[in-house]
Amino acid sequence: MAVNQQQLDYLGAMGIPVWISRDLPMPELSGLTSVLAAPVIAEIMTLPNTGFSKPVSPASTQALDQSSMPKKGLQAAGSLIRDLQQTPNKQIAALAASLDEPPQSKPIIITKDLDGIGWMELESTVSQCTACDLHDKRQQTVFGKGNQQASLMIVGDIPRLLDEQRKQPFSGEAGELLGRMLSQLELSADAVYFTNLLKCRPPLDNPPQANQAGSCLSYLKQQIKLLNPHLVLLMGRSTAQQVLGKSESMAQLRQNQHQITGLETDFITTYHPSYLLRQPRLKALVWQDLQFIKQALNNHG
Ligand code: SF4
Repeated sequence: MAVNQQQLDYLGAMGIPVWISRDLPMPELSGLTSVLAAPVIAEIMTLPNTGFSKPVSPASTQALDQSSMPKKGLQAAGSLIRDLQQTPNKQIAALAASLDEPPQSKPIIITKDLDGIGWMELESTVSQCTACDLHDKRQQTVFGKGNQQASLMIVGDIPRLLDEQRKQPFSGEAGELLGRMLSQLELSADAVYFTNLLKCRPPLDNPPQANQAGSCLSYLKQQIKLLNPHLVLLMGRSTAQQVLGKSESMAQLRQNQHQITGLETDFITTYHPSYLLRQPRLKALVWQDLQFIKQALNNHG
């Protein structure tokens, strides 16, 4: 079954293609895209107030994750389209309202004293954290991976679907691109520590909200204290803004070293590899940033 342009337009009117393909080129819904999109579609169908007649159970969501299931992915998309076509306007309005940004609650500042706790205890604390609304939506936390003596720490924004499934940040295509970027710095992935600002995956891979980032930042800061790297590379605008506490654009933040009160390390920013996959024209800027990072690492000897 093929999803035609009219159906895609219909989904577009609902705002859905953005979620289907946040990390993938649009608008084609290829077999691979449908496999990756299927669990996301399944999530959409379980959103409250959508009026969809056949909510997807966790078991069938898991079934859709199987790489042998492109057909099921397309069937799920087809079922979603049929449900949308049969949904009364009133319920569609409720769907749109439910997908609007929810009012931001204030961040719950982690009161547990993280100072002095080691890697294992910190990871265990994170795995039990309930400080923001993401705790009841996660399958598992994604704490970080890599060399705990590294001089470079790389911080992304959120764990995406594949990261959550593998319990590893920077999985999949974005991770492969990041690996190629690191080879430009003559660094192997083994010499780096990777993590994200948020340790739980937001539904539909949404960017971190201020209250979620505000709650989770304490864990990242403790990771930085434990690692004490020469340099932290913040990838993506929302990561950079939330961690540095600044509102400037990436164009203004990149190509500069930044500091945070209470931390001895330097911070540099660049674009997130997931964004770069969608905006290849930015590669020249990232190349510039890599040279800047290389220089900064060399300055630390
Ligand atoms: Fe806790 Fe961070 Fe997960 Fe929110 S995202 S529940 S603050 S670990």
